[in-house]
Amino acid sequence: MPYQICTRCIMDTSDPAISFDTKGYCNHCTTALRRMADEYLPNAKGQNNISNMVARLRQDGQGGKYDCILGLSGGVDSSYLAWKSREWGLRILLFHVDGGWNTEESTHNVQTLAERLGYDLHIHTIDWEEMRDVQVAYLKSGLSNLDVPQDHAFFAVLFKKCEEYGIRHWLSGMNLVSESILPASWGHPGLDGRQLVAVHDKFGKHPLRTFPVISFWDCARFYGKIPFFSRIHVHTPLNNMPYDVFTARKTLENECGWKDYGQKHEESRFTKLFQNHILPQRFGYDKKRAHYSSLIVAGIMTRDEAMEAMQHSAYTPETLENDISYVCELLGLTHAEWDSLMRAPKRYWQDYPSWGFYINLARKIKQLLRCWKKR
Ligand SMILES: [Zn+2]
Repeated sequence: MPYQICTRCIMDTSDPAISFDTKGYCNHCTTALRRMADEYLPNAKGQNNISNMVARLRQDGQGGKYDCILGLSGGVDSSYLAWKSREWGLRILLFHVDGGWNTEESTHNVQTLAERLGYDLHIHTIDWEEMRDVQVAYLKSGLSNLDVPQDHAFFAVLFKKCEEYGIRHWLSGMNLVSESILPASWGHPGLDGRQLVAVHDKFGKHPLRTFPVISFWDCARFYGKIPFFSRIHVHTPLNNMPYDVFTARKTLENECGWKDYGQKHEESRFTKLFQNHILPQRFGYDKKRAHYSSLIVAGIMTRDEAMEAMQHSAYTPETLENDISYVCELLGLTHAEWDSLMRAPKRYWQDYPSWGFYINLARKIKQLLRCWKKR
């Protein structure tokens, strides 16, 4: 496919499945604008949704210590949601999963935020030997989504803790403003426990004794969001209020002593290297492109600003070398082994056992339900 870039957002042919209309608008921003119009409610209706959610959480939380759980990565979305939850008067259990890659800033942010807001904070530390084994297995697998081990552990622990504490509601920082665009061809969902186990069985060296793995039913409940079957209700209130990530960062810095990381998801040392170096260099796409395109669709970044921001590299040659050395040292890899892994044949999620069929089916059903609701 000859190179082409959208004339409205900055998505381009680095997504092999992208399509363009006669105006040069891509399928991603066209779909995202439609979804934003229906599901992003920075208005009275959204405010009403939040009031109803808060009332429901308080009612269901009666007799318990907490109204809901909030998974805190230390990034701007979950941190801002925690700050808003205090405003709403919710009793929240903050939960952080430490997969061994936290930056100093993320550790600071998670702890400072909990202290300033007066919320209980539970930190679950993943056994490092097992985390390392799964991470190296993913590097050896040739798959592009090397963040699966961190993402999977985060969600799996949250599922388990909700059950343990009898919590029925989960506040998620997921939002359309910064995440309305992410091409399906750029990776497979991290919640696929079957794929994680298959990759580890093939390339891992040590048995997984404590590494949290998501069950099929928890995965189905999360993607399906079927009320009758869902013990845990996932709420995404950032879609029901005006949400500007740049203003949110400033608010957190001023009110909570929060420290900015730079880019989305850079609270993890591995994710920073993965998103800014491994994905563009080895797999030929840059997630910043989707993130900035989402911000364009949300109207909080112009296309020119996004094009300009794409020119800035997160690394100098020296800092890149430092981060590669850091990751190699933690994973127990030599530089030669790292270079060899970076040149190994690429694989796709379809090359390993997965729940992809069911996940895609759930997505299609949700799309159909969205269309049906609009009628
Ligand atoms: Zn577009």
